[in-house]
Amino acid sequence: MKIGFIGLGNMGAPMARNLAAAGHEVTGFDLAAPCPEGVAQAASAAAAAAGRAVVVTMLPNGDILRRVAAEIIPAMQEGAVFLDCSTVDVASARAVADQAQAAGLSALDAPVSGGVGGAEAGTLTFMVGGDETGFGTAKPLFEIMGQKAVYCGPSGNGQAAKICNNMILGATMAVTCEAFALADRLGLDRQAMYDVVSTSSGQSWSMTTYCPAPGVGPKSPADNAYTPGFAAELMLKDLRLAAQAAAEAGAETPMGTCALDLYATFVEEEDGKGRDFSALLPRLEKRGG
Ligand code: NAD
Repeated sequence: MKIGFIGLGNMGAPMARNLAAAGHEVTGFDLAAPCPEGVAQAASAAAAAAGRAVVVTMLPNGDILRRVAAEIIPAMQEGAVFLDCSTVDVASARAVADQAQAAGLSALDAPVSGGVGGAEAGTLTFMVGGDETGFGTAKPLFEIMGQKAVYCGPSGNGQAAKICNNMILGATMAVTCEAFALADRLGLDRQAMYDVVSTSSGQSWSMTTYCPAPGVGPKSPADNAYTPGFAAELMLKDLRLAAQAAAEAGAETPMGTCALDLYATFVEEEDGKGRDFSALLPRLEKRGG
């Protein structure tokens, strides 16, 4: 398949490389990053998109996505698939999809979970909104870049699934870190706390798979001095997207707002930037009376 790939950063580069390694003809464009192995360099985003059956974008935010979309949609061939894998606000995803559909294209919003490790290994999970015909065309590409693609309904629903999932993740990680810090003060051993909670009703992915306490549970960023993993500033970005979507939809999300405030303080006023999002535990263990 002829594929255009725009946005070749930490995530986009390995995703594009995996598509090329699987035998697809991939042409790439990025304002700053070089093309990875096997990907042909285009002179502009429009040139990377022209004549391609599928154009993948992997960009930092909704404003940049809107700008790139305005440039590439007129260049794309009718019937092609505009496949955005960035994490952006639901409103931008829906606006871009409307423009693409008006130009006779299929549009999919397909944000991912799995991080840079998942992008490199081709084990991402895709949450996909948009038309089902486009989903059928893109399916073989999801199978190369990832291990699972879940169809979530109309345009914007992929982004909706992503931010709801990450709002749960942010809040459960925060409260798991709080509970470890509280357990410390109560004289409860961290291993005993893990052994109880990981098989009790307080269990979550944050406890059993990605435990924020070093030396407890399976290996996690806590065992590597909280080197990300999933950086606190990326969690903050996703919590902001959830808060924005909640405000637009009129939904009340008090726990999501608490997690947002906590990560905003940690990243913007303290030393959280560049650390894993589970580094709330060493922050909390130092605080309090
Ligand atoms: P990144 O900053 O490494 O890459 C983004 C790339 O887009 C950069 O190389 C930048 O030069 C390029 N770019 C910016 N504006 C451009 C333009 N107008 N035209 C062409 N290229 C342009 O970011 P990343 O970590 O690869 O993340 C990409 C997206 O994936 C984000 O939306 C992020 O939220 C999401 N995401 C990231 C992770 C992660 O762990 N890094 C996990 C899941 C989802």
